[in-house]
Amino acid sequence: MKVIVTEYLRIDLDTEQWECRRCGHVLGPARQNYKVHTRVYARDPREIHKPLLDATRYEYTYAPDPAWCAILEFYCPACAALIETEYTVPGHPPINDLELDIDCLKRQWAEREELSAPAGGGLPPQVDHACHGHAGSGRP
Ligand SMILES: [Zn+2]
Repeated sequence: MKVIVTEYLRIDLDTEQWECRRCGHVLGPARQNYKVHTRVYARDPREIHKPLLDATRYEYTYAPDPAWCAILEFYCPACAALIETEYTVPGHPPINDLELDIDCLKRQWAEREELSAPAGGGLPPQVDHACHGHAGSGRP
């Protein structure tokens, strides 16, 4: 069973691996940060957000200071799809933005059909509240 997570990421629940949705490349263990299994391009933030003032005349130009801002792009190593872009501080390890409860996902998808594309519209899938620590709390 493969579960869609983002536009370019899915998890194979049988093997517990992150995969690229575009080419099927196996990125790495789904219980780890997928970003460490991608190719990273550290962009110069001034390249993305061009100075609005003449940099030869002004110290501050409204462009991000590369000493304080890093823009990281994470690409699939097989097909070069841009999976994620992250704004962070220079030297910070990749932010773990998708830490999913794999065991809970397996229970939630045990009775469902695999989707080849995101389901649009309709009701959101039922959430297994037992996976989120709400069991017996009386809260929905
Ligand atoms: Zn790919």
